Amino acid sequence: MQLPREVLVGNGVAKSVGETVTRLGFRGSALIVTGPKVITIAGEIVTESLRESGIESSTIIVEKATTEEVSRIENEIHRARPDVVLAVGGGKDIDTAKLSSMKSRTRFVSVPTAASHDGIASAVVSMKGLERPYSQMAHAPIAIIADTSIIAKSPYRLIASGCGDVVAKYTAVRDWKLAHRIKNEYYGDYAAELALMSSRLVIKNAHDIRTVSDSGVSTLVEALISCGVAMSIAGTSRPCSGAEHLFSHALTMIAPKPAMHGEQCGVGTIMCAYLHGANWELIQDVLHRVGAPTTAKELGVESEHIVEALTRAHSMRPERYTILGESGLTKEAAHRVASLTGVIG
Ligand SMILES: [Zn+2]
Repeated sequence: MQLPREVLVGNGVAKSVGETVTRLGFRGSALIVTGPKVITIAGEIVTESLRESGIESSTIIVEKATTEEVSRIENEIHRARPDVVLAVGGGKDIDTAKLSSMKSRTRFVSVPTAASHDGIASAVVSMKGLERPYSQMAHAPIAIIADTSIIAKSPYRLIASGCGDVVAKYTAVRDWKLAHRIKNEYYGDYAAELALMSSRLVIKNAHDIRTVSDSGVSTLVEALISCGVAMSIAGTSRPCSGAEHLFSHALTMIAPKPAMHGEQCGVGTIMCAYLHGANWELIQDVLHRVGAPTTAKELGVESEHIVEALTRAHSMRPERYTILGESGLTKEAAHRVASLTGVIG
């Protein structure tokens, strides 16, 4: 079980990066992995904080999340030999830093500047160009330092997307339970409850999240971190990723212009909740309230792509048993669930 040793969530905590890294015993040098825009938003604060703690740092800018970028960072880690890698930014920066630091057997600290999905705080990584279209386990951050004042200033769409990824646990846990019953798959109550609690808290605090209040942003960030912890406890992404994620992975492959991961997972959760006979209206309502997409139109994809993604979702990851069963939905059934839940018109 890999868990982060320090988790800091709050207003202004980016200034404590140096102190935290020192407390964890890293004293030599650090490599900051960040993006071209985020460097001025947070990269400089982190560099300064490290300098104040007597830690030298160098910075590498990531342009996109590709395996080539991962190799480039790996080469830099081999060259500079940092004690620790700091991922400062959004999903792309954190994913590439997570993977390259794992391959180089170097610890990494996550300093998310956006709350768009649970990868910001977990061992899971998903990236184009990897051998599988879905997320896989890499290594967990040794510390997470989430500055809510920086996250609150990120584009609101990222926050709404993060909500979609958290409410997805509502069906992910149901799928996990189902796989336990049907396939005797390992199921852990504690990890399942932790993931469910995150989705419950986001549902309960939708208003505070929508207004981007301090407590709302903290709730979302803590929910995403708890999801990462749930996966670490379970040793699998099961508590956080079910049929709604398979639908999202399929849609990303099918749609010419896919939406964000969390946005697609949110819409997938509405439809999968319907398939489970659960309260899909509750999911639709909370997504509405946080301003996340609930329809194909709002996702910016065609109705037929939704239907096709539903029929192909089960084949994304055949060993992951879900409500979609082994043969998946028929086209007619897919059309019906998408229509009945208002996802397609
Ligand atoms: Zn996700």
